[in-house]
Amino acid sequence: MREKEIKFLWGRSGNRCAICKLELTPDGNKETLGEMAHIVAKSEDGPRGDSSLKETDRDKYNNLILLCPTHHTEIDKNYKDWPVEKLTVTKSKHETWVAEQLSTGNISVDKIDNTEFLQDRMSAWNELSRNHIAIIMSLTPLKISGDQIDTMDNSVQTALENAHYRLKNPAQKVNAHHTRPSEFGLVNENFPDLPKRFGHSFHIFRSGHCEYFRELGHDSDRITEMALSRKANINGAEHVIHYFRLAEVIDAGLAWLEQLWVNILPYEYMDFKCTIMNAKNTTLFSYEDDWGDSVFGYPTKSEALIYSDIIYKEHDASLLSLNVLKWVSNCYGLVLQHKFDRSGEYTRPVTLR
Ligand SMILES: [Zn+2]
Repeated sequence: MREKEIKFLWGRSGNRCAICKLELTPDGNKETLGEMAHIVAKSEDGPRGDSSLKETDRDKYNNLILLCPTHHTEIDKNYKDWPVEKLTVTKSKHETWVAEQLSTGNISVDKIDNTEFLQDRMSAWNELSRNHIAIIMSLTPLKISGDQIDTMDNSVQTALENAHYRLKNPAQKVNAHHTRPSEFGLVNENFPDLPKRFGHSFHIFRSGHCEYFRELGHDSDRITEMALSRKANINGAEHVIHYFRLAEVIDAGLAWLEQLWVNILPYEYMDFKCTIMNAKNTTLFSYEDDWGDSVFGYPTKSEALIYSDIIYKEHDASLLSLNVLKWVSNCYGLVLQHKFDRSGEYTRPVTLR
């Protein structure tokens, strides 16, 4: 759902339910929570979903109606009593009513306050980054003067959604349904498994700053468990992370940022940063086949490891990638000679010990 469609819908509905006229907010309690309901369902088998309306048009303003939770449930549960025509008429009558009431001063529309929503996001974010390892990579223009990127442009949305989790599976792009406008631009964010701290956010800011965030909680849990079950000495570290996982996630982030730079970012020079969050209690594990002779990195001394460099548009992408991975290895007390071996697998670093 695009910001434009959302703004249209909320604005023209006067922030009110089209059926009962209750005033709504995007983050209120259950009764006043505004829900953007589909007139023709998003999928074929949903309420009123059997329609010739194209799938790409189903998230647009014309197919959405703003309702309170009670009436959203009502129209979807008793969809036979609420056919497409009836909903379309209800919506258009409601919007006419809103326009009349506004012009005669009978109602006013409060500016939507989403502070609470943003605070919730912030605490979820802090919670995510506290206990497990996360990667943040970003490109920042050196000079920022006002908004530089139109994040509502289709090409920007496409560029955002070309991000993928793993390089090994280039077909697996981020799910476009998780794209939404944010306070500063456009974000695709999904933390499906909050307790296990696993998920991502890909962000394009209007200022031109682009950010990639991957939480590796799930992977580090699995590998820590495996290491402990085999009585491996993890040198006081709380979590073990697999070098290949980290390398692949970093490479996927780099590939995405590069692609953004080539396609939508109009800068010659940018500040590149790669941060490994919560690195202190994490040890890097690089050799999976033979645990008897396993190679572990040291736990690092710093809470966050930061690689930072100014790069220019025609930089050597493969060299940057190798430098970042060498830096990762060095931070954990490992030495990396090459990025890939002859069969194209990530090269296992060797420990300095
Ligand atoms: Zn209602």
